[in-house]
Amino acid sequence: MKTWTTKSGPTITRVMGGRCNVFLVSHGGRFLLVDTGPAGMWRLLISRLRKLGAEKLDGIVLTHTHFDHAGKAARLREMFGCPVYVHRSEAELLEKGANPVIRGSTPFGSAVAFLASITPKKMLAYAPCATDVTVDERLDLPDFGPNTYILHTPGHTRGSMSVIVGGETALAGDGLVGMFRSTAFPPFAEDSRELVESWGRLLGTGCRIFLPAHGGAKNADELRAEYERRRVAHRAP
Ligand SMILES: [Zn+2]
Repeated sequence: MKTWTTKSGPTITRVMGGRCNVFLVSHGGRFLLVDTGPAGMWRLLISRLRKLGAEKLDGIVLTHTHFDHAGKAARLREMFGCPVYVHRSEAELLEKGANPVIRGSTPFGSAVAFLASITPKKMLAYAPCATDVTVDERLDLPDFGPNTYILHTPGHTRGSMSVIVGGETALAGDGLVGMFRSTAFPPFAEDSRELVESWGRLLGTGCRIFLPAHGGAKNADELRAEYERRRVAHRAP
């Protein structure tokens, strides 16, 4: 399990990789899970949390409500009795266990999105989960370290959010991807222009490291260089 430390205190551990990175933010004996992965591999997740000393969770943030991020949310919420944070615009989807629309932003993404559109809805569904805290533009999380907060960073989906940890490291969900060397732009975006604008917001946080839910980290210089190119192409401010 890979760990990132911040100067201001909180640490971040990648608890699960593969289909969706699941991150645990730890600070002063408190634990915040960011995304849950798809429905499977339950025992592995729980044993890894225990290994990290997380006998309890103090919160679960869903960066958005695609099935590969929210798949274990209901079960974790029930087990740990902790609040689930989701953006206001996706709370209803979470409560139904419904996947937001998948829209391609590249030829590859469009082909996959087309396949998803003809896939029976049931296959992309997940266990419905109650929402405890809805987030709008920003929500401070002082229990998980100074300068730790949730930021609305839409584009991949309407309600996509990032978690800024200690003002240094961003857990960006699917707002960017780390599978490709040449680009951080996700193959799926409901609104590509909005996504580029969200990169501007992310860069404005002062974070140096951006951890996506798929693939490895991007640094601020890489993200800024691509942002400058794309903001012209997408006419983002
Ligand atoms: Zn997604």
